Amino acid sequence: MLSATVCKFGGSSLADAECFRRVGDIIRADRNRRYIVVSAPGKRSAGDIKVTDLLIAAAESAGDERRAPLDIVRAKFRAIARELGLETPEAALVELDAAAAAGRDAAASRGEYICARLMADYLQLPFVDAAGLFVFKSGVLDRASTYERLRDLGPRAVIPGFYGADPSGNIVTFPRGGSDISAAHLAAAIKARLYENWTDVDGFFTADPSLVPGAQPIRCMSCQQARLFAYLGAGVLHYDSIAPAAEAGIPLLVKNTFSPEAPGTLICSGARCETPCVAARRNGCNTYLLSAANLNAMQLESALAALPDGSVRNGIFTLECHEDMLKNAAQALHAACFG
Ligand code: ASP
Repeated sequence: MLSATVCKFGGSSLADAECFRRVGDIIRADRNRRYIVVSAPGKRSAGDIKVTDLLIAAAESAGDERRAPLDIVRAKFRAIARELGLETPEAALVELDAAAAAGRDAAASRGEYICARLMADYLQLPFVDAAGLFVFKSGVLDRASTYERLRDLGPRAVIPGFYGADPSGNIVTFPRGGSDISAAHLAAAIKARLYENWTDVDGFFTADPSLVPGAQPIRCMSCQQARLFAYLGAGVLHYDSIAPAAEAGIPLLVKNTFSPEAPGTLICSGARCETPCVAARRNGCNTYLLSAANLNAMQLESALAALPDGSVRNGIFTLECHEDMLKNAAQALHAACFG
């Protein structure tokens, strides 16, 4: 009997046909990878726009203005299907107009829906619509009904992340980035052996490498630490995706689709992490809250010496800074922690 791994692939891992091929290689490399949860295709390059952003823009515009974003979405999916030799899901692409008219959640969900249909076709696995699995009541996930349905899934499935439906069949979405949450509930419901979250970085780092080039990957951490780092702004996982897996005792492994051989970050209860983490989250229009957690007394002292405008509460160093200063401040804080 195979045990089940739930694999969630983020938008950057699904941006084009080449990405779909990478995902196929990953799935075929381990027979335990039986449940695949997908996001909507993300950006192919810096100037590109995520499918979900285009769908939300369409829902928020009217008349002719709706056409342009929907045409870009259609072109993206047609290109993926064509390059992989798959049948284009024309009916679903035509229905995008109706989805955009039905409102924000109905529209936003279509990126995951069409992506999962294409992925199921590509992998030759059953597609199961999240609208029939994730039950929302008054905007909140009904865990008991949802878990009951998830436990009835067949032995393998490709499932769209990010949304479910209310008892009347209206689509309801999780918050942005919520495919992580869908996959976490699936892993918890079926008592998966592992929840693999495939993204475009090698896991959690001691700081965001785009701010601090010398940041180092963190190999292992506890669920509490992962939640704290996510809360402080380490944008690797959705904050709400850590508790469902942790409470069910499912280890979570963050992996890089573009470098599958890298070990990634393992998050599991009981693990300890002595490594400080520097993270930043937006705190207004042009300002960020820069924080460092997991510091010992000496590291806190050097952080305050390097950045005297900062403050310490509950062992966490925090500094509010303008976005122009963010890189310099993050580098100074990282050096204070590791110097
Ligand atoms: N596609 C949705 C978003 O962009 C959900 C997700 O990617 O997890 O927020």
